[in-house]
Amino acid sequence: MTNWHEAATSLRPETRLLIDGEFRPAADGATFDTIAPRDGRLIASVSAASDIDVDAAVRSAAAAFESGVWSRSDRRHRQRVLLRLAELMLENLDELALLEAIDSGHPIGDARRVDVPNAARVVRWYAEAIDKVYDEVAPAPESALALVTREALGVVGAVVPWNYPLIISSWKIAPALAMGNSVVLKPAELTSLSALMLGRLALEAGIPPGVFNVVPGLGPVAGQALGRHPLVDKITFTGSPAVGRGFMTYAGESNGKQVALELGGKSPHIVLADAEDLDAAASGIAWGIFYNAGQTCHGGSRLIVDEAVHDELLERVVAVGRSLVLGDPLDEATQIGTIASERQLERVLDYVAIARSEGATVIGGDRVSPVEGGYYVEPTVFDGVDNRSRIGQEEIFGPALAVTTVRGAEEAVRVANDSPYGLAAAVWTSSVTTAHRSARALRAGTVWVNAFDIADVITPFGGFKASGSGRDRSLHALDSYSALKTTWIHLGDDRL
Ligand code: NAD
Repeated sequence: MTNWHEAATSLRPETRLLIDGEFRPAADGATFDTIAPRDGRLIASVSAASDIDVDAAVRSAAAAFESGVWSRSDRRHRQRVLLRLAELMLENLDELALLEAIDSGHPIGDARRVDVPNAARVVRWYAEAIDKVYDEVAPAPESALALVTREALGVVGAVVPWNYPLIISSWKIAPALAMGNSVVLKPAELTSLSALMLGRLALEAGIPPGVFNVVPGLGPVAGQALGRHPLVDKITFTGSPAVGRGFMTYAGESNGKQVALELGGKSPHIVLADAEDLDAAASGIAWGIFYNAGQTCHGGSRLIVDEAVHDELLERVVAVGRSLVLGDPLDEATQIGTIASERQLERVLDYVAIARSEGATVIGGDRVSPVEGGYYVEPTVFDGVDNRSRIGQEEIFGPALAVTTVRGAEEAVRVANDSPYGLAAAVWTSSVTTAHRSARALRAGTVWVNAFDIADVITPFGGFKASGSGRDRSLHALDSYSALKTTWIHLGDDRL
């Protein structure tokens, strides 16, 4: 068994920018500190890309695209290279997982069993898909042939958050690269290390210089420079609604580039009086909000429960929450790790205070210290929440469940939809009719019935309303990294 604490002390992560196939410091030498949320200590100083570095990365990506070295290479070549990248991710599973755990606070067990294998699966899935998607021949008049083909867009800027750094990066870079685009990835400033290692593995796999660049840096500097760059054809963004909307402004004020947004959520679990298995529901609800310490965009942060089962269900949810092992991300037994930063920790604790001031009953809600100096909050439940209150409406992004009591399915769906967000929802019922009717009526990009968080690359993921309009995953993502081209070929009259 690996001693993860020892392994963490001997880690020497790559901290420089990856531009044009080379790791280099920022042009002005600037760096920022990346802190381990498990103990609040410095892991490393990472190069901070400025406008100059982002410009160099984008120009290198554009030149690589124009050269055709990747964009016009045989699909099977791209397939082989991306398959090799997926293999390399698994061959380097322990190092990648350790970087993810130390930088983001995910438990090492999750990083090894979930984050790295999932990200590798996404890369492999898109690699395998490249030679299985067909273009179209339109039903044109006899005198012509009309082809509708997908072509790569050019340079894709991918801007990602800190909650699932590897998984979310893979959702974006894999389909974009598979289609032949060049990519500039801007990781979140809290979690740049696994992205830089991914860059190294991509080079090793044979992705040509310039085709995949990684530019860590501060959002308002590096993220903005990418968003405003005239040679970027598309921004694919996951993060907060405010910053996502900022990217629409950057696009409007620069070259009108495409912008795909995956934003936040306040996903409801509806539990109706006829729910068959309250133990299963309690487990789905507790894991749905406490996994990754609640820092999941589609985390089930609202429980909308019928009054007939409220007490029985809540007791079980609290019991599951208490049974989860909250601790040091570097211990293999840990099930719930840290909040990702001190700032996010303060935000979660502020919401605990708001819940109290809004009259909710707070169960849990305290900072705890399994490792001194780390950012940990115990699983927390707010009961008696008015769905219109701040804790009913605002995304907390922490291990905090807001519970609202209702009567019947109709009220439950109305309350569930009374939210600016629409990322995901779940309904627990034994009636097939109620399940179908509720699933149709819920305004959310994903609806689960008698389950929560079943997910895979095979289905699209994204939101309605303020949760954004982009879709990651599935074959649909290939469309979002390509443009349709129509080619008309005049055939003349019908004689040969
Ligand atoms: P964030 O919006 O602060 O940051 C996301 C990215 O944008 C980071 O790379 C950051 O550096 C960059 N950025 C920040 N300010 C910027 C600016 N002014 N200009 C350009 N770029 C800027 O979000 P976060 O705090 O990292 O992540 C948490 C948020 O992400 C939550 O709201 C969560 O719900 C959302 N999220 C959504 C999904 C989804 O798929 N819908 C998935 C994960 C997280």
